[in-house]
Amino acid sequence: MVTTDLETEITYTGIPASPGIAFGPIHVIARGFSAPEVYAIPEEDIAEEQERFTNAVDVTKKQLIDLQERLESLSGNKESEIFEAHVLLLEDQMLLGKVETAIRDRKQNAEYAFYAVMQNFLEAMRRIPDPYLRERTADIEDVCQRLLRNFAVDEEHSHEELDEKHILLAYDLSPSDTASSNRKHLLGFATEQGSVNSHTAILARSFGIPAVVGLDASVIQVTALTPAVIDGYSGKLILNPSQETLQKYISIGEEKEKQRTQLDAKRDEATNTTDGREIALSANIEFLQELHQVQRSGAKGVGLYRTEFLLLNGSEMPDENAQAEAYTKVAKETNPHLSIIRTLDAGGDKLPVESLTETEPNPFLGWRGIRVSLSRPAMFRDQLRAILRASAFGKVAVMFPLVSGLSELLQAREHLKRCMDELSAEGIPFDPKIPVGVMIEVPSAAVCADLLAPHSDFFSIGTNDLIQYTVAVDRGNPHVANLYKPTHPAVIRLIKKTVDAGRDCGIWTGVCGEMAGDIRLTPLLIGLGVVELSVSPQVLPRVGQVIRSLSYEQCLATANEALVQSNSRTIMDLTLSIATECYPDLLD
Ligand code: PEP
Ligand code: MG
Repeated sequence: MVTTDLETEITYTGIPASPGIAFGPIHVIARGFSAPEVYAIPEEDIAEEQERFTNAVDVTKKQLIDLQERLESLSGNKESEIFEAHVLLLEDQMLLGKVETAIRDRKQNAEYAFYAVMQNFLEAMRRIPDPYLRERTADIEDVCQRLLRNFAVDEEHSHEELDEKHILLAYDLSPSDTASSNRKHLLGFATEQGSVNSHTAILARSFGIPAVVGLDASVIQVTALTPAVIDGYSGKLILNPSQETLQKYISIGEEKEKQRTQLDAKRDEATNTTDGREIALSANIEFLQELHQVQRSGAKGVGLYRTEFLLLNGSEMPDENAQAEAYTKVAKETNPHLSIIRTLDAGGDKLPVESLTETEPNPFLGWRGIRVSLSRPAMFRDQLRAILRASAFGKVAVMFPLVSGLSELLQAREHLKRCMDELSAEGIPFDPKIPVGVMIEVPSAAVCADLLAPHSDFFSIGTNDLIQYTVAVDRGNPHVANLYKPTHPAVIRLIKKTVDAGRDCGIWTGVCGEMAGDIRLTPLLIGLGVVELSVSPQVLPRVGQVIRSLSYEQCLATANEALVQSNSRTIMDLTLSIATECYPDLLD
């Protein structure tokens, strides 16, 4: 186990997941047990703090020995051995020494110093190949919890408040961890797991804070409060930055800010190519609070509202009225532009809508997206009725996620029709011509797009999932992130197939996956015939400027050339060469 040297600058390179630069202390969140409060200890109280730690260890040891004795007297000695191992852990001089060093050198409170040391130790254990030893992790978490509870709360002890703003470092963050983190204090995210298309990355972009994911495993050994810089442009986390490094990043930040102001000034300009092809540019949102950013970004509507984030307010979807209120707000604030409300996309790697009695062996291929809605008709219809009710207050479309074939679409439409009949009978207004869109994000849907098109009003390609299912690469797994290729020939052929099938039926195709906001790929997508791009409000003004810099004719030639290439690198080079020619200053 290593702890970072106090002075040495160390750079970790990961995957840039959300642009921006931030400076601040690191807070670490560990898996398994919750973090105690962290605060600074004044020099003169260090000895007292060491004593608090020793006392907590002694109390815990005593409790464990008592427990062991009681268990021994009840059931013989086998089970009690486990407590013996726990006591031994609390006598491990190396671990105790590390905590004492952290209290002394970093002037951290004892609880936090202990927590930080233990979480490093636990991470090391979780990586042990031996399953028996790995399973002991839970026992150690148990001892840690017990010890943390045993710190006497000293009411008299007043501690200096730290500036709470921090960069959050974690092994991984679930969408709910990310969404429920205190945004006021959050300067950035850095995680060992994750990829550009993981939900944490998507949320970081929607919060407008830098994020770096897929960092080297040893990063988790960083001691809390280590000063750091996070560079979400190039995917770096720099610990103990030198003055020179700080200065460099201050300049980069200023330069980016200047560019942002220039782009913001153009946000109301039309998003047409130089030869007049109109590309609708809309925004992806997860929370209603983002609506003001949508307006500020110059977006022409909401191209994807991920309604599953409503699940964060409780363990289930809000009732029909509460949902209708949320969707009406979106409809009104986006008016006169279109708001595309996607029905619940729960399950898989996303928020669960209900806990299953058995864990799914393969959640990505399991009970998620439209499958969940179709098997919970009452819940599905509450949502459809709410969306329909909102359609009376603005231009609203409904969109179904993870459709894999025609029968799912027809079933979903059947539910929609029934909801319309009910609302009509109840005299509740709605738009009877509400557009119905299908997300194309399962390869089977792209291949059968010609079958879906006659029953759809538009297609929106969810490239995050489409890529993962096409090339069989988990979108959130950093170990295979190098295989996650948006320009894989199979992916671009599926996009083309979808666009063509839509066009043949007179419907439009957009992209709402993260590919839409990757400006290296804009020439390719426009050339493939995509006419709507839905992106995070943060990157929207930049994508707008990119569209205005491109000629459709040139994009079309690039896409046609790309479609006959045999590998992703060549296709990336083709689109990148147009990007570099037309908007070199906008590329990071
Ligand atoms: C996608 O899969 O590309 C998409 C937009 O949906 P999500 O990221 O919410 O799965
Ligand atoms: Mg998806």
